[in-house]
Amino acid sequence: MMKKISGIIVDPIARRQFPGTLVIDQGRIVDIFPDSAARGPFILPGLIDSHIHIESSMLTPAAFAAKAVCHGTVAVVADPHEIANVLGIPGIDFMIESGRQVPLKFYFGAPSCVPATGFENSGATLDARDVEALLRREDIFFLAEMMNFPGVITQDPEVMAKLAAAAKMGKRVDGHAPGLRGADLAAYAQAGISTDHESGNLDECYEKLGLGMKIMLRQGSSTRDFEVLHPLITSHPEQCMLCSDDLKPADLARGHINLLVKEGLRLGHDLFDLLQCACVNPVRHYGLGVGLLQQGDSADLFWWKTWSAWRYVLPGLMARWSATRGRLFFRFRSPGRLTISTPPLLVLISCRCRQEDRRSRLLR
Ligand SMILES: [Zn+2]
Repeated sequence: MMKKISGIIVDPIARRQFPGTLVIDQGRIVDIFPDSAARGPFILPGLIDSHIHIESSMLTPAAFAAKAVCHGTVAVVADPHEIANVLGIPGIDFMIESGRQVPLKFYFGAPSCVPATGFENSGATLDARDVEALLRREDIFFLAEMMNFPGVITQDPEVMAKLAAAAKMGKRVDGHAPGLRGADLAAYAQAGISTDHESGNLDECYEKLGLGMKIMLRQGSSTRDFEVLHPLITSHPEQCMLCSDDLKPADLARGHINLLVKEGLRLGHDLFDLLQCACVNPVRHYGLGVGLLQQGDSADLFWWKTWSAWRYVLPGLMARWSATRGRLFFRFRSPGRLTISTPPLLVLISCRCRQEDRRSRLLR
């Protein structure tokens, strides 16, 4: 069903806003035209969390999505290393399958460090061969969070094989390099690692940016760097992204990337620099199929009635508009039970989601 939405269109590519109308068909923007009669609301590209471990929210991806879309999030770049530590590849498959049931777009990576260290008793191990097999898959988009930076610097064969697999498949490698500087940092970046979300101060960020890395400004439940790193939004808008890394349920209930955009505006940053970090850069860096309010794009957008009230959300699948009173229902089935035997433990995950989560009903 074709749908028209009028308002102040905030175009993150042309970096301008104008009164206009979007014509949306089958979830895609088929036309955009100026419309001087349009007054509001503000129509913005959907926000992207460029690095998160969904497991920290204690929710399945489907249940996470039901809450996240209410904050204007349309996509997340996710590292499923926590479930992989417990269940291995079946755990990753479970996350992907759960995420497929909902309109929020999940881009999962292949966990690079399972277990995280050799001192762990993990439920599973992903060796270089497992990681390569994951990276071959179309539903795995990148090599996630290379925490083993000593292994990169000393060229550990297993670590190098994982990096080589990502390079062969043309997939990005995410970093994790707290406090890494100088020659070690140069070797780490040289190995093809393209991002970092662990930098604690601006000097460290400048050094990483100088090596061509992208910096993710992190504000999550465990670590909160935004206050220190936010000047990068204005100084290096082309090289920054926004992420949470970990979000506990109570924090997710309060907000998501929208809170960083709001805080960035309060601190005096330009809206288009913020959207560059929150929307444009992750799409370009990872090659995500997320729309940026351009003709032909997927309609991954939301709207904002006033700059102080973030009230209306409109995630991608416009085709899902209910015929009844213009309401969008957010539905997902229960993923049921996943039972995996990992001797000597029997791990049982039972996820019960209501057929229709009324709290996630999105009102137009
Ligand atoms: Zn992380």
